[in-house]
Amino acid sequence: MMVNQHDILQTPIEYLKGVGPLRGQLLRKELNLNTFGDMLYHFPFRYMDRSSYIKINQIQEEGAYVQIIGRITFFEIVGVGRSRRLVATFKDDTGLLELVWFQAINSIEKVVEQGGNFLVYGKVQKFGGYWNMTHPEMDKLDSVTPEALPAYQPVYPSTEKLRAKGLAGRTYVKLVHNLIQQLSERDLLEIIPEPIVLHHQLMGRFQAICHIHFPKHERDMQRAVHRLKFEELFIHQIGICKLKLNHRKQAGFYFQKVGEYFNTFYKEKLPFELTGDQKKVLKEIRVDTQTGVQMNRLLQGDVGSGKTIVALLSMLLALDNGFQACMMAPTEILAQQHFAGIKELLKDIPVVVAYLSGSTKGKDRKDTLQLLANGTIQIIVGTHALIEEKVIFKNLGLSIIDEQHRFGVAQRAKLWDKNTLPPHMLVMTATPIPRTLAMTAYGDLDVSVIAELPPGRKPISTVHRPEIYRAKVMEFMRHEIDQGRQAYIVYPLIEESEKLDYENLYAGFEQVKQYFPPHKYNIAMVHGKQAQSEREHNMQGFIKGEAHIMVATTVIEVGVNVPNASVMLIESAERFGLSQLHQLRGRVGRGADKSYCILLTTPKISATGKERMLTMVNESSGFAIAEKDLELRGPGEIDGTRQSGAAELKIADLIQDVGLMEITRNAAIALLQRDPDLQENEQMLLRKFLMGRKDKEIWSRIS
Ligand code: ADP
Ligand code: MG
Repeated sequence: MMVNQHDILQTPIEYLKGVGPLRGQLLRKELNLNTFGDMLYHFPFRYMDRSSYIKINQIQEEGAYVQIIGRITFFEIVGVGRSRRLVATFKDDTGLLELVWFQAINSIEKVVEQGGNFLVYGKVQKFGGYWNMTHPEMDKLDSVTPEALPAYQPVYPSTEKLRAKGLAGRTYVKLVHNLIQQLSERDLLEIIPEPIVLHHQLMGRFQAICHIHFPKHERDMQRAVHRLKFEELFIHQIGICKLKLNHRKQAGFYFQKVGEYFNTFYKEKLPFELTGDQKKVLKEIRVDTQTGVQMNRLLQGDVGSGKTIVALLSMLLALDNGFQACMMAPTEILAQQHFAGIKELLKDIPVVVAYLSGSTKGKDRKDTLQLLANGTIQIIVGTHALIEEKVIFKNLGLSIIDEQHRFGVAQRAKLWDKNTLPPHMLVMTATPIPRTLAMTAYGDLDVSVIAELPPGRKPISTVHRPEIYRAKVMEFMRHEIDQGRQAYIVYPLIEESEKLDYENLYAGFEQVKQYFPPHKYNIAMVHGKQAQSEREHNMQGFIKGEAHIMVATTVIEVGVNVPNASVMLIESAERFGLSQLHQLRGRVGRGADKSYCILLTTPKISATGKERMLTMVNESSGFAIAEKDLELRGPGEIDGTRQSGAAELKIADLIQDVGLMEITRNAAIALLQRDPDLQENEQMLLRKFLMGRKDKEIWSRIS
């Protein structure tokens, strides 16, 4: 087979010595290893340290991983079907250990048949009075002393199937070894520009690949890991920062003036004085929309910081300049609340506001689409139904996305295509973003922050109580209500068990009535399954103060503003995520009175559940809570991360390596500032590498 030197990393995995079509297919399917390059970048997750081993009588702890040298004195295959297994007796001069295999029995049989000395490694368990080890890693020693083995043997992420087919452990290690043997420095040319390699004292690329798979010393291994993490994050950041640069080059609409819509609303209808931060953000938006370049701005502000009014004023600015504006929210309920809220605020101003979601059907939908296309509708509020292709604007000038963390970068981009020039983009998130996410999922956006809450907000006391305290909690709530306050009681609602959740909600409603007899207390119930009119009616009852208590699902998570409410009771709080709990808590503490958030849970909750409750009790800052959330859930679970590709990082860790991410981001920015299209010689290999990647659109779009 002819292999071009430069292409060796692209060689199909089948061509590797010892692989072939069958194994090749398995490796592709199980580990997504398609090429030599993929295999080189499939890293070990730990190493077996060959330098330390123990005697059998030194085994102490069940579940410990140990390494032992001994001899197989007997073996047999026992059982049938799923319990068919190979059991071997393994001895050293101090005792006996049983080795057990359930899978790959035939190939193991051949190995143990030959006899001799072995080094075994694995987890020990006590079974019927003996220590045993299931599916140990084995090395045949013969006359070789253990010192002659490599000090660190790599252990790779693998799958059940590969283990069953005998293509894990030693066999796989051998394949990697074969591959690296046939490579030289020329096959893995340095892609990080030399000045950066030098400045950060990085190990070379080829060396790093050799050492991460087969390190001779711990220090080599650590340097290799560092280098490869750097490479991964640097490449990632180059992509994101390039996207940001591209945004900056994207021509955008010029919002020349502040006109009548804005001024009338601002001077006559604004229900309160804007906070300093709200004014500052508006100014930033004003500046952005006057540069002739498309705005791509993230507005970050804690729950209740007043982002909506900023959004509305920005939309009026678009209208003043003859453009349409849209606002997209992640759920129907939130979108409807925005729609209702905006209509209310604009009620005496002649602006045509419309609503569109998946449940807008038939004639209604047809009319809306038509009025949108002919420019009659000036502001449209809706769900992601807005990004569908059928939705055509006459002249969309500004798109606002609320709760951005539930939309991906790709969805954001779809709004770009809604006009000949892409509209200005303002994305708003109520969840303050951890630093890592700010550099990844949102790394291509300019950031505005509202740090200051509207005046008069009081700190909220948060407590966590097991359910057995419910009577006491209700008593406390009654006391507050008897003082003239109002309260929320929230039940979880998660889609998988929706039916059950509604049963819980109704059962809860009945229970609440027992504590608050209907002849004396008025209780409103609000949830997503109600007809809109009923929900609206009940909500209004609470807003006007006619209802003392609102029993609800997370419908109220966003948007509701009742300053007189001073208690937020969350049932089964362990079932909510941290950011959701924070959102819910943000519904109280808006008036002059001291407010309380009570988290009720079952007495037995998981360790992370407990930690979530503790975080809520101790932290009031949305920022700290978001950081904790990321730590507890892991980056893959956080909305927005997956879409950004950041969750696909192979070796770097979004949480642990935040420092390194910052360093690589700065290096990427500095490089792109000097050489935005990576045209210089020094960057040739990097550019070539990027062009060969899946996400190469970022590069082809500009050059
Ligand atoms: P969020 O940032 O969470 O979307 P909202 O925009 O819903 O917050 O605002 C929260 C509440 O604060 C709303 O009831 C809004 O009317 C009120 N609000 C916003 N800005 C101010 C302000 N400058 N002064 C007083 N109240 C304000
Ligand atoms: Mg909001």
